[in-house]
Amino acid sequence: MAQVVPNTLKGFGVTLKQVFKKPLTQQYPEYKHPVYPRFRGRHRLHVHANGLEKCVGCSLCAAACPADCIRVVAAENTPENRVSAGERYARIYEINLSRCIFCGYCELACPFDAITLGNDFEISEYNRDDLIYDKEMLLKEPVKKVPVADRSLYDTPIPYYRSHS
Ligand code: SF4
Ligand code: SF4
Repeated sequence: MAQVVPNTLKGFGVTLKQVFKKPLTQQYPEYKHPVYPRFRGRHRLHVHANGLEKCVGCSLCAAACPADCIRVVAAENTPENRVSAGERYARIYEINLSRCIFCGYCELACPFDAITLGNDFEISEYNRDDLIYDKEMLLKEPVKKVPVADRSLYDTPIPYYRSHS
């Protein structure tokens, strides 16, 4: 109880300090603040240099996903229809981004680096169904781009936040 008054005053002090600070307004979306290089945003599916898909439809990403938002339906590659470098490929690959928590577990679980999380965060839609990204969408380069901060600022022995806070 004795600590309540000093702690309350301390809280007011923090608020009061902000009142005299110059406001910082960023004109989004004209100006986009660069995101942290390892920021996890919209997913991408990748292909090999020869054009074959890296994904072999193993569903390890789906098994690792805590939000249960990945759906993979695999099919066999044939000599007439070779889609991926493995025995099978993902005939259907969907991610429901309205459920995704961007934890990155799918990326970690994938043995072929077929799925990665990019930096793009501008993925809002008016309709929830539009947030179900299919394979075609995931294979495409994202339309919207956000700037990414200089990686060298962060890959230092002393973390950036320690030397600048
Ligand atoms: S980032 Fe996490 S929640 Fe989102 S699809 Fe991957 S594993 Fe699932
Ligand atoms: S993205 Fe990777 S883990 Fe997921 S099904 Fe394809 S190969 Fe397997």
